[in-house]
Amino acid sequence: MRTAMGVERIGSAELKDLVAGGSTLDLVFPVASLARLAALSPSAGHETSLRASLTFQSGSAGHLQVDSQVQPQVQLRVAGAVDLACQRCLQPLVLPVAIEVLLTMVRSEEKAAELVDAFDTVLLEDGELAPAQVVEDEVLAWLPLAPKHSDETSCGRDAGLISGEMHRPLAGLADLLGRGDRQGDG
Ligand SMILES: [Zn+2]
Repeated sequence: MRTAMGVERIGSAELKDLVAGGSTLDLVFPVASLARLAALSPSAGHETSLRASLTFQSGSAGHLQVDSQVQPQVQLRVAGAVDLACQRCLQPLVLPVAIEVLLTMVRSEEKAAELVDAFDTVLLEDGELAPAQVVEDEVLAWLPLAPKHSDETSCGRDAGLISGEMHRPLAGLADLLGRGDRQGDG
């Protein structure tokens, strides 16, 4: 298994080989290495990681073709977890990640537009693929807008009720997001 450090970008020549060979790359990304995801994490992503498996294929195997030009594809699977702040109690919430998506690799926005809605696409930059960016994009798109513990009884369980935790700068957000306790007698 190659580490994420070794494959910040997959060059166009290597990409061609991977597609031709139907190869699979298994990569591990500490969430801390994915800046946009780490920014959502109370621990800055230091506690969780994501495993990504990228299986390349020529795109000619039985998938409907929009035009005569076959676009190479990558089957992306992401597993692992991200830690986020629960938007109800603001305590850490570990969200298991399980994503599987088939992405068509395109070289330009114009080509992506030609493929209409039939495909999820990933845009290559100068013919190169940036796996970390693709993984992060897909996970961000998959995340719930307001992650919360599955039920209210799980909320605040680690907080020890009212405690020094309430002095955290984000504690005020709980009131903003709170349900039903507005001053409503205007
Ligand atoms: Zn919660």
